[in-house]
Amino acid sequence: MAKKTILTCAFCGRPESEAGPLIRGVDGYICADCAEQANKIFNEMYGGLKSQSNEVDFDLKSLPTPVEIKKFLDDYVIGQDDAKRYLSVAVYNHYKRLIQVGNNDEVEIEKSNIIMVGSTGTGKTLMARTIAKLLKVPFTIVDATVLTEAGYVGEDIESILTRLLQVSDYNVPKAEQGIVFIDEIDKIARKGDNPSITRDVSGEGVQQGLLKLLEGSVVNVPPQGGRKHPDQKMIPVNTKNILFICGGAFDGIEKKIAQRLNTHVVGYSASRNTATIDKGNLMQYISPQDLKSFGLIPEIIGRLPVLTYLNPLDRHALRAILTEPKNSIIRQYVKLFQMDKVKLEFQPEVLDYIVDKAIEFKLGARGLRSIVEAIMMDAMFEIPSTHPKHFSVTLDYARQQLEKANMARLQSV
Ligand code: ADP
Repeated sequence: MAKKTILTCAFCGRPESEAGPLIRGVDGYICADCAEQANKIFNEMYGGLKSQSNEVDFDLKSLPTPVEIKKFLDDYVIGQDDAKRYLSVAVYNHYKRLIQVGNNDEVEIEKSNIIMVGSTGTGKTLMARTIAKLLKVPFTIVDATVLTEAGYVGEDIESILTRLLQVSDYNVPKAEQGIVFIDEIDKIARKGDNPSITRDVSGEGVQQGLLKLLEGSVVNVPPQGGRKHPDQKMIPVNTKNILFICGGAFDGIEKKIAQRLNTHVVGYSASRNTATIDKGNLMQYISPQDLKSFGLIPEIIGRLPVLTYLNPLDRHALRAILTEPKNSIIRQYVKLFQMDKVKLEFQPEVLDYIVDKAIEFKLGARGLRSIVEAIMMDAMFEIPSTHPKHFSVTLDYARQQLEKANMARLQSV
């Protein structure tokens, strides 16, 4: 009797009985697990087996206009009108450029990378996150603080594009149309005024590296991020059409702005009256010169032609942040209680009290949530078992709860 041949996967060696159905090749078989594994490796090494089309799948008519983009931002971000307008126009123009690239037009529209300057907790990242919800191109947020110059501990600059590749499913042409938000760009400013006597690990060298990306060139990206190592296969990515949006707090830059404004007023530009300068918000006068004084190299500044700022959040803005955005903190708590069939209400004076505390603790918008959380902790613990129909947070209750919570802990947020 003829002996039954046992088919095995040529990759893992398992028989069909263990590995499941096999696909036949010229010389052998492959199982589903190994095929999947092979596809994964291809994705990581060569940008995938999927069709790598770089055709844009949108047209001008289907795009949100800058006004519509801003309206969308308005639903989630309070104030910051200037920054929103700049961002909306930049995103819209980015789409236009992508459409034009496909048309081989003679007039080449160059991209305008953006830099947003504003104190921490004023909504830079929120703005970037919100715009990501609306975008029709791959988008990612990366943190500049982890970057170092090649040869030092930290991540290589090219790893900025790794996340973009990942969100594009390693489809390189798609990634090449994406938008990257680089947070904390100020952390790679040159320390001190003398251009690197000793090498500056996270300063000028990183800026030089970043410049390459911003300018538009083909860079080799490590598919898994982190540091490059000799036997890692790199994915070449052209950054020519990638839009970079940078954000940073630039702590202390107001001093540089003030210095510049003062010299101007006293010096040749006497037409500018000191009285017209709003000293409470110097950020609005920011100019590329101030970025240079802060320690960004002129070449980088030149590659970030759109400079915009975010206003510090005043009491009024903080109050609005509590209740107005579509997913405002208060709405989120109301929703949480609603799920337990409890109608939650905050007395208006409680909201003012929360804002007062955020200002007193110097926590800004970031602190609003921790304060509300501290006030609501006991209620959230008890209410799912006591099932009241209605729960109203009064000023006395809020005070008592916040005093009970460890204030010192809140202050260190
Ligand atoms: P930044 O990136 O400027 O340091 P974030 O965008 O991370 O600050 O803001 C921190 C948090 O504060 C946000 O998640 C949001 O809850 C709140 N917040 C800050 N600014 C605003 C704003 N303008 N509108 C609404 N919420 C804001």
